Amino acid sequence: MQTFDLIILGGGPGGYPLAARMARKGWKVAIVDSESEFGGTCLNWGCIPTKALLASSRTYNLLKNAANFGLSCENPGFDWSKVLERKNKITVQLRQGIIKMLEKSGVTLFKGLGKLYKNRIIKIAGYEEAIQGNRICLAVGSVPAAPAVFPANRGIFWTSNEALNTAEVPQSLLVVGGGVIGIELGQVFAEFGSKVCVVEMMPQILPGLDNATAKRLLPVFKKSGMEIMTGKKVDSLTEKNGRALAVIDGTEREFDKVLIAVGRRVNMSFMHETDVQVETERGLLKTGDDYQTSEAGVFAIGDAIKGPMLAHKASYDAMILAAQWQGEKVAADYSLVPSCVYTHPEIAWVGQSEDALKEKGIEYKTGRSLFSANGKALTAGEGDGQIKTLISNDGKLLGAVIWGPEASNIINEATMMAQFGIDHHAFSRMIHPHPTLSEAFLESVENASGEGVHG
Ligand code: NAD
Repeated sequence: MQTFDLIILGGGPGGYPLAARMARKGWKVAIVDSESEFGGTCLNWGCIPTKALLASSRTYNLLKNAANFGLSCENPGFDWSKVLERKNKITVQLRQGIIKMLEKSGVTLFKGLGKLYKNRIIKIAGYEEAIQGNRICLAVGSVPAAPAVFPANRGIFWTSNEALNTAEVPQSLLVVGGGVIGIELGQVFAEFGSKVCVVEMMPQILPGLDNATAKRLLPVFKKSGMEIMTGKKVDSLTEKNGRALAVIDGTEREFDKVLIAVGRRVNMSFMHETDVQVETERGLLKTGDDYQTSEAGVFAIGDAIKGPMLAHKASYDAMILAAQWQGEKVAADYSLVPSCVYTHPEIAWVGQSEDALKEKGIEYKTGRSLFSANGKALTAGEGDGQIKTLISNDGKLLGAVIWGPEASNIINEATMMAQFGIDHHAFSRMIHPHPTLSEAFLESVENASGEGVHG
């Protein structure tokens, strides 16, 4: 039986950086994933394809509003099959890049579904011989959670997987769940002409976002054609003449398709019908600070364990685990994992929310700045949005929330300021180029300390 220092199950943003890192340190590393899945959910079924569709929908929106820039563009249209083709091309290009990088790093690739057996033995579909690892890392990710009460006909009742590959844009779409997936994909289809209705059972959309911002964004999304209901439940979903019949808060409505976006669950296929049962806790693989599971020598990272189910958190886990294996005394800290929603406008937040600070009775000063006062935003036709920074009494950034252009890039300023404990006066002296969107972040920090010029 072939043996390795490390076998990783899952080639996503958790698994592949860990494989490359350890192989470059001289370990004999194998990584197992099916041919079409290297790159993981993020690359094949999540972040990247969604961002590709959002980029097309954003460009389409710009074409429709070309007159705002003094341009004319009569009857802008789209070819959905080409929109999908572009998305798929990006995915394939990135996937090939990852595979090449792994091979160049000296990692052995096995293409098939891997299953874990006792004594850290892995059996891979399509391979006759099993392999054994001195250590195993489960970087198995997650799959869409589709409650059993909803119909299973994926031709009508989609998960994000079906939504990302639909052959046509439905005339009407019910989105169950106003989380990140529901809002991002809801906006894509609304922009391309679907009548989209998002039903969120909690009082606000986008769990984790501060309440005031979530409320403020409702009219913004309504403007892009989405009907959003909060605090409402989809009582039932049934199939009727090839369409979906939904009862929403007691009222019957029909839709062509339904997107079920109510969260994700750990992909447990690695121990389906094997002789190993890795211990779980609330549906996640239970791990210690050393990422080790209940099975000795079997580790887990990313969506499969505690912490937010985000690609960059999985890559962070990989980095911390690699450092631990090289003898560094470090542990994961998820208090500054940025959250980003790639709609237009984008939304991003990091650290503690205003709601959480109030609940904990922590004193803070609030700084604000508006993109309508930012030159770069206005020239780009993106004057909607604002930045809110929360600064402690001793001048440290506690949290920030941004909605507006490039929020997902600007949030890095906030993360850096908080992570390295930069004092707000010191930060104010960091020269920001003009004109840039990042000046709006500086302005918000200055506003909190009463030094803002425009506020
Ligand atoms: P989510 O947890 O973000 O949101 C699910 C939403 O569905 C919640 O608001 C919940 O209250 C609601 N809900 C649950 N059951 C419901 C019901 N029966 N009726 C109405 N509403 C219901 O989950 P998601 O949007 O499916 O995303 C899954 C994971 O993928 C998340 O962890 C998310 O962070 C991640 N993701 C991240 C990005 C990004 O970073 N941009 C994009 C997509 C997905």
